[in-house]
Amino acid sequence: MEQRYYQPEIETMPVEELKKLQSEKLVKQVKHVYEHVPYYRNLMDEKGVKPEDIKGIEDISKLPFLTKADLRDAYPYGLLAVPQKDCVRIQSTSGTTGRRVVAFYTQHDVDLWEDCCARAITAVGGTDEDVCQVAYGYGLFTGGPGLNGGSHKVGCLTLPMSSGNTERQIQFMMDLNATILCCTPSYAAYIGESLKEMGYKPEDNKLKAGIFGAEPWTEEMRQSIQNALGIKAYDIYGLTETTGPGVSFECSEQNGMHINEDHFYAEIIDPETGEVLPEGSKGELVFTSLDKEAFPLLRYRTRDICVLSRKPCACGRTHIRMSKPMGRSDDMLIIRGVNVFPSQIETVLLKEGYSPNYQIVLDRVNNNDTFDVNVEMNPDQFSDTVGGLTKQEKALAAAMKTMLGINPTVHLVSPKSIVRSEGKAVRVIDKRKLIDNNQWKG
Ligand code: ADP
Ligand code: ZN
Repeated sequence: MEQRYYQPEIETMPVEELKKLQSEKLVKQVKHVYEHVPYYRNLMDEKGVKPEDIKGIEDISKLPFLTKADLRDAYPYGLLAVPQKDCVRIQSTSGTTGRRVVAFYTQHDVDLWEDCCARAITAVGGTDEDVCQVAYGYGLFTGGPGLNGGSHKVGCLTLPMSSGNTERQIQFMMDLNATILCCTPSYAAYIGESLKEMGYKPEDNKLKAGIFGAEPWTEEMRQSIQNALGIKAYDIYGLTETTGPGVSFECSEQNGMHINEDHFYAEIIDPETGEVLPEGSKGELVFTSLDKEAFPLLRYRTRDICVLSRKPCACGRTHIRMSKPMGRSDDMLIIRGVNVFPSQIETVLLKEGYSPNYQIVLDRVNNNDTFDVNVEMNPDQFSDTVGGLTKQEKALAAAMKTMLGINPTVHLVSPKSIVRSEGKAVRVIDKRKLIDNNQWKG
């Protein structure tokens, strides 16, 4: 693919220059936050660090962390760093893991967020010739507004579909010759499945690329979506607390997501000790907003687990890459004492030729965890005999045991019987009513 950049001078900036730029921005940002956010000033005072102690990016580890608990404590206006009259937008998390948090944006903040999304769209080959169908939800959720803004900046003809109403989604996609699709990977899979049911082949649509994120998905899922839609599928990552989608994005290489490092400085820490780990280590991702005005979080702990790499990328971008987060530290299930990520189950299913439509159901009977996985069969996997079905279930359970180290009970269910998601998929139903450690007061 011919390489195009939305902001070439920044996206391909030599690393040394980038570090200088980050240092200048950080020094300014720490002053701004210290002066305008009493909540964070208290945290800095408690840690005995003053703005003057931060002379460059190498001093960042002197600063205290912020956590989601801080955001909830300070809800709603406690971390706002500018007068409310200077803000033009509020967005909110989707509340996947608890109470929603709200984030604020000045026009400058909206602009830099949309620039990041424009970089992502350009990286997958988007230009002003494209028709970009945005099927992320619009509203408080950042997916729709972020990609919508980025698509405008690139000059694509933007189709603001929002999520849902899949038949109309497909009709517009076909009638208006959409070339780029933006939505969650689980919704992309659903659109692919629906296209097939409606009698379309992958080559019947004009799509060339998809920008899919907001939830974890596997390489196997990527292959499956690429085949179903006849496109290249690219990952995009972000969180409301830092802006929304576009904090990082995949380039033509489809090998990790470039973090927009002129705006977001990334660290990987040991989630237990808070110690900063060297590049290449797996740990919790921490972000510092270097130039956001309204809601500039410093050292925010995302709870997303991944790895950073500064190895040069063939696309020419110099910004550091992050691996696909395999799930959040709080997505991790502990079943019979073993750590299990739902994404591991997805990997097994797609490897074994099943659909990525599944649900994990956990319960506790006589103090033992029960671990059931409901998996949809593809229409061509129907077995006529009960014996045949049981055999398939056993084989799948054995494959999962190899991956996870513990044995689930697999139930193959009929096609289309698991509820489809138009946004972030719900993969786990946990009925165990375990004590939430975060609530424990000692
Ligand atoms: P919520 O925390 O309520 O889901 P957001 O809608 O802001 O709030 O979601 C941000 C989170 O979504 C991230 O912290 C991360 O866990 C997840 N996420 C976003 N993009 C991706 C991606 N490409 N791959 C894996 N996880 C992602
Ligand atoms: Zn690249």
